[in-house]
Amino acid sequence: MAPAATASIYDTITNQIIAALERKGVDLPCPRCGHTAFDVVGEPDLLLKEGGWVTSSEVLPTALIACRWCGFLCRHALRVLLEPPAPAVADTGRGADAARVAQAEA
Ligand SMILES: [Zn+2]
Repeated sequence: MAPAATASIYDTITNQIIAALERKGVDLPCPRCGHTAFDVVGEPDLLLKEGGWVTSSEVLPTALIACRWCGFLCRHALRVLLEPPAPAVADTGRGADAARVAQAEA
């Protein structure tokens, strides 16, 4: 029997992460090698210890993204990545800056 039922749970999470990265304009190339192909390689939890800017120990769900060429890894906090963008944030985000640059270059 094909493992479709088990794979579909992870496919759904991966597709949600990819859609959120696209929706929020997270499309810059790899900061180490400049390539533009990435994979979602997992959703590991990050344990934050109390102290500094964290007021209590907390488990932070993350998405782990890897560059397909050099393997550079980066993480996104899923709580922030998967939430819909607030209008005020979208207006001051990189997308707005990119639009201003495009207007200035036109
Ligand atoms: Zn890379």
